[in-house]
Amino acid sequence: MPERLFVCTPSKLGAYTDCPRRYRYSYIDRPAPPKGPPWAHNSLGASVHTTLRNWYALPLDRRRPEALPTLLKGTWVREGYRDEEQERAVFRRALEWLESYVETLDPADEPLGVERVVAVKTAVLAFNGRADRIDSRPGPDGPELVIVDYKTGRTGLDSDDARGSQALALYAYAAERVFRKPCRRVELHHLPSRTVAGHDHTVESLARQLARAEDTARDIVAAERAVADGTDPDEAFPVSPGIRCGWCDYRRSCPAGADATDREPWSAVERALAPADPGDGGPAPTA
Ligand code: SF4
Repeated sequence: MPERLFVCTPSKLGAYTDCPRRYRYSYIDRPAPPKGPPWAHNSLGASVHTTLRNWYALPLDRRRPEALPTLLKGTWVREGYRDEEQERAVFRRALEWLESYVETLDPADEPLGVERVVAVKTAVLAFNGRADRIDSRPGPDGPELVIVDYKTGRTGLDSDDARGSQALALYAYAAERVFRKPCRRVELHHLPSRTVAGHDHTVESLARQLARAEDTARDIVAAERAVADGTDPDEAFPVSPGIRCGWCDYRRSCPAGADATDREPWSAVERALAPADPGDGGPAPTA
């Protein structure tokens, strides 16, 4: 019998790469351990992403900055904020980000896809993922596709982040096959800093990222088999403690989470509103 393909998304692969124990809590243990309360930075990221999706759903003549307050209000996710005052301040900040971001867009540019699912199968993976935006831009030999990922976390991003993102590389690999057009460029659009961090992949660099993803899938399957064969699940899916534990949904269920810095659900947005302080205990998560 042929091996079953490993069905995955970028977040599933990323969860295992970050911490095998978190992967187990998220994708294997049923019932899953209880999660902590919702994070305000996730609410903020979701609100901004949905606003931009709905922006592109408007007719061309309505894609104007004046449309943004209504769009943002309509998609605003309220969970995780400390209080209404903080929520209002973050709403205003998000609106500023969106207003300055859409100034950089030509409303007449119609993306090839907005929150578009792309999927591809390899010998090991059945990959699917939802790209924030897929642009079609002119290239020397005809249209070329570009993967665009919106970011709202405070941390500034550079071309190394775009180059190293497995998710973006897999989207590019899949988009190239779905649309049968070259897709080598990937971009992180960081709304708070109004910067774009981009990278131009090659066929080889995309293949390397795909090979890494396949290695991760093989590791996950091997760990699952080991558990089926009697290995202690805690051993097969070890903890990987680090700065990220403070932001982990399962830190209250995980033995390593007890040592993590406790974060309030609104800590990251509080820091997003505050002036930069490099000594504040590590980067806030990016959404
Ligand atoms: S608290 Fe840390 S070690 Fe535990 S599951 Fe979360 S990320 Fe992994």
